[in-house]
Order: sequence, then C-alpha cells, then structure tokens
Amino acid sequence: MKICVLPGDGIGPEITAEAVRVLKALDLRIEMEEALLGGCAVDATGNPYPEATQNLARASDAVLLGAVGGPQWDNLPREQRPERGLLGIRKDLGLFANLRPAILYPELANASTLKPEVVAGLDILIVRELTGDIYFGQPRGIEVRNGERVGFNTMIYSESEIRRILRVAFEAAMKRNKKVCSVDKMNVLECTQLWRDVAIEVGKEYPEVELSHLLVDNAAMQLVRAPKQFDVMVTGNMFGDILSDEASMLTGSIGMLPSASLDANNKGMYEPSHGSAPDIAGQGVANPLATILSAAMMLRYTFADEAAAQRVEGAVKKVLAQGFRTGDIYEPGTKRVGTREMGDAVLAAL
Ligand code: NAD
Repeated sequence: MKICVLPGDGIGPEITAEAVRVLKALDLRIEMEEALLGGCAVDATGNPYPEATQNLARASDAVLLGAVGGPQWDNLPREQRPERGLLGIRKDLGLFANLRPAILYPELANASTLKPEVVAGLDILIVRELTGDIYFGQPRGIEVRNGERVGFNTMIYSESEIRRILRVAFEAAMKRNKKVCSVDKMNVLECTQLWRDVAIEVGKEYPEVELSHLLVDNAAMQLVRAPKQFDVMVTGNMFGDILSDEASMLTGSIGMLPSASLDANNKGMYEPSHGSAPDIAGQGVANPLATILSAAMMLRYTFADEAAAQRVEGAVKKVLAQGFRTGDIYEPGTKRVGTREMGDAVLAAL
C-alpha cells in the first residue's frame, strides 16, 4: 500500500504529521512518500500541482492531504492559486464521489448550535457527486440577448453518472445502518427526475437497504429539525455542496470532520473538511483529529481494512472520553492540549 502524503500549507504539516504517526503505529505494510501541493508548491516550483506531485499521486493507492491556501497566495494569478492545485488533483485522479461524515461525539454535544438532544450521537454520511451537474454542464456563460445580459448554466447528469454515485452510497450504507436517502428536486427539474428513477433502479440491487427520497428543500429543513433520522444521504454536486456544509455545521466542531473523495476503483484522497487555518498555523494548537479520522476513512474505503479503521476511530473516541481537547473544542473541566499532545493521546489509546 502506497500513500502519497501532501501536507500542504498553514496547519497542514502539523496535523498531517499526527495522522502519519497514527498510520505508522498500526504496523500495516504501508509506504508513505511526501510531495508538495498548494502554496508551498507554488513557492518551490511556480505550479500548485507540480509534475513530481502528479506522478506520485497517480502511482499511489491513496492520497492523504492536510490543507492548502493562505493569504500570502490570494493575489496570485488564478492558475497559480493553491485552490487550483486542489481542483487539479481531484480532476486528474477522477475523484467523483465525495464522502463527508457528520459525526457528533456525545462528549462534544455542547459544541453544536443546536440543542444537545437534537444532535448528540449524530452520525450521518453525506455522499456528494463531485464531477458533474450544473458545475460542469455545457452550455454555460453570460451573453447579451435582446439587448440585456443573461446568465445560464446547464444541469446535466447521464444515467451512468447517477448509477455510479448511487452505488457508492448503497455500498456505504451496507457497512452502516442500511438506509439511503436520495435527495432531488424532481417536482421541478427533469434532470433530477432521472436521478430519482435511476436511484429506484439501483435500489433494487440492494434489497437489504431501505431507500427513501426527499426534495432538497425538505432535506435542508429535516437536517436541522431531526438530523438523527438519516444514515446515508446521496445527492448531486450542487445540492451536495450545500447540504454537506449544513450537515457539518450541525456538529459545530470543524476540527473533527474528515472527508474522502473516491474514484471508480476506491482510490481516494483523504483530507479534513476544514481549511489551512492560517490564523493558528505554526502554533502547535490545531486539532489533528479530522486528519486522523480521514486516515481512518482511507483504511476503510481504499484499503478495505474495517478493523484498522475502527481501531483508529475507537482511539479518537477514547481520547475524547478521557477529556483531551484542543482549543477549538475546549470546555471548562476538560484537559486543554496542543496538536502533538493530542496525537500522543491517540497513540496511547491505540
Ligand atoms: P479554515 O477552515 O481554515 O478556518 C476557519 C476557522 O476554523 C479558523 O478560525 C481556524 O482557526 C479554525 N480551524 C480550522 N481548522 C482547525 C483545526 N484543525 N483546529 C482548530 N481550529 C481550526 O477556513 P478559512 O479561514 O475560511 O480558510 C483559510 C484558508 O484555507 C484559505 O486560504 C482557504 O482558501 C483555505 N481552504 C482550504 C481548504 C482545503 O484545503 N481543502 C478548504 C477550505 C479552505
């Protein structure tokens, strides 16, 4: 198993180092090699996704990414911005399925802006299609028609694109609570009528999984009204963009949320849902748990090692139960620790 490690910018190197220590401690046969992505790559080579990184990423089974970006690169030409590197690697590796769990550990229930009884124990997985939909559809543009400017985009999905993302959702549900909720807007948009039709067809391949459907407006409402009713939610690129951010905020602790982006063969890129946090970079206070939990997702989805994934997740639960907290999740009465000490605690729990 070969992992390409891309620490990136800001807090990226600090948090990635802890996830690497955890992976090493598992004593699996893993080879890891580091490369540059984002602002650090621009500084070193002028390109946010340099050729050496492309070669290593393509030759690896999985990519572990910290985060990219920072104010010092914000005024560069668009093609040199760190975010370009991120979009570049996603496209290059064909990562069409984005998996974002929103888990609220009971110990952190007060971190949410929702009432603890609504969110305590929350465990949802949002599966978002990442390479199609209105974000990529043609034609698109702004042009003058009848003497005024009009802007237009195209919402488009082929049935094969819908089928492959639905299969990812059903496969994930088979490893969880066997419930899939497919989100569309079939009352208004033909494209999503096709989405629903294909979802029903794919659902027949998974008789053990309970399939339900929600219109996106209702889904947004249900996510804040009673989020614990959901197990796996699957939706297109635009609806998923919005709903996954809404779901992550239910937990209130951005330093805790991992993510995975997968291709058709379960090769994946794993990264925390948060950014490079330039405001706290280099201080040794960032929460490494989202990155450590991203490494657990790597073990589950790319390396199909459920036992190792659960060991890591169990260790994270244990350190929370023991009261260890980085600044972002600190409450009076708990033990405030830095990035390295949090990593040490996870290693001890392992
Ligand atoms: P951010 O997620 O970096 O930070 C938002 C807030 O959350 C900050 O106060 C930060 O200190 C805190 N925070 C984030 N992660 C934390 C952690 N692990 N532990 C403790 N606190 C944490 O979002 P932002 O400030 O909007 O963006 C900063 C930079 O990151 C920008 O350049 C942006 O483009 C980039 N960004 C990158 C990614 C990515 O690499 N996938 C994603 C989002 C933003």
